[in-house]
Amino acid sequence: MCNTYRYRINLRPAAIALIAAASLGLSATGWSAPKPKTKDQFPLIGRSAQIDTAFPYYKDRSPESIASELRVNRYRVVHDVVTNENAIDPALIAALHHEKIGVWYVTFGNGAYNTDPLPPGWEKWSMALRGDFAGTPVHDGFNRLCLNNPEYRKWKKKQISETLRRIPFDGVEIVESHWPEYPGRFTASYGCFCESCHTAFQAMYPDETRFPDIIHSASAQSPERNPVLWRKWLKFREASVAGYLNDLVNGPDGVRKTVPSAKVSVWALTLTGPDALKRMREDCGEDAADIAKTVHPDLLGLQTNWPDWSRAELKPSYADQLMPFVSAVRSVAPTMPLLIQADTGSTRANLRSRSWIKAFEKECSKIGVGSTTYYSYEASGLMYEAPRIAEATRTGRNIEVVFNKRVDPATSDPKHYTLDRGKVTATAIDGNIVKLTTDAEGEKAASVTARSVANMPKLLLFPEHPAAILNRQTIHIDRQAAP
Ligand SMILES: [Zn+2]
Repeated sequence: MCNTYRYRINLRPAAIALIAAASLGLSATGWSAPKPKTKDQFPLIGRSAQIDTAFPYYKDRSPESIASELRVNRYRVVHDVVTNENAIDPALIAALHHEKIGVWYVTFGNGAYNTDPLPPGWEKWSMALRGDFAGTPVHDGFNRLCLNNPEYRKWKKKQISETLRRIPFDGVEIVESHWPEYPGRFTASYGCFCESCHTAFQAMYPDETRFPDIIHSASAQSPERNPVLWRKWLKFREASVAGYLNDLVNGPDGVRKTVPSAKVSVWALTLTGPDALKRMREDCGEDAADIAKTVHPDLLGLQTNWPDWSRAELKPSYADQLMPFVSAVRSVAPTMPLLIQADTGSTRANLRSRSWIKAFEKECSKIGVGSTTYYSYEASGLMYEAPRIAEATRTGRNIEVVFNKRVDPATSDPKHYTLDRGKVTATAIDGNIVKLTTDAEGEKAASVTARSVANMPKLLLFPEHPAAILNRQTIHIDRQAAP
């Protein structure tokens, strides 16, 4: 997520690392309680998309239109990326359920973008980063909170359980619980060196009284001069991530106890290339297999890391190169459902098309990974493609035309629609749905044709894109077409 939007967090370290290397020269609501739900009421495994409803694409339209759009794109599972728990619309979750779509509540493990839900004094939970000590503090819009801070943990557990009780999500997905940050200790956001971490480090290694010194290479505590201390530190970081997630999920007041009906998913970062497993363990403190073994989630997500997703030339078959992570998890949890997450539009360079996404999904299926998702639906390359009608259904003189994406109201007046019998006399638009009213003869129409209907680039992440236009499409009324 870049600085303007949350597209997306793990891009930022690249810039930070460059700055660090260059400038430091260091060697270094009013909603009533939902009805009790049965555990497997809606699907949570399979092909899916992440949505972030804070963005304009989802504004000024009904929850039903959002849900219908996801349904006609054949999603049975949605991951709702929540950055402000106070702003969740329960009506959207209800609308998705009405379409028989299961919904994950996606929450960030290692901090917050939006501070609204945080209590007064939350700043004390902040991570202490390399940049704080090296004179290059990090201000990138993301508030990193320490996994080892007992108060943060307590609050995070409460936030998750209260949200699941208040909003009828089907499960919680805790993402990005890694330590900052790839590519490692020379990054300004590398951490954490806070008091809570110091206490936890000493509890794990009572003989060690000091952190490694990653700024002064001549220090007796530098990784070069004290590799034993450094190895302990790396082990400590891994244990902290797995311990944090285990506590949130299985610990006292953890989600398994407070909301036992909710499914739980946890994620770990991945990387392609040599020594990828080692790099993720050492740079981010994440060992996907250890997390799987320790936490026992219902779904283990493998998140594509920014050095991979930001490559313009990345092929959808790159999922194959994540096999070391898949195999490592399978070696300790052979039947655990797995998910791979791609990024399909956080930057101009990685706007992935519908066919790219399909190929990615196919590749994951080929390697036996049963769930896929991508960040994020409203930011993906497919949004910049021309709309298509997915279905048209009739009730008397009214015909509801459902598009596979939001369409421009300026291209949705009656002159854009014709029938094989009768006439369209009026239209009304709700996001991706255009409601046609016909004359009496139109009640007998068998097909509807749309002409020159545009998407809405001005609502997208890169609004300078020209409108993409559906030139002409005819669909039988009451029929559904491929998205
Ligand atoms: Zn800390």
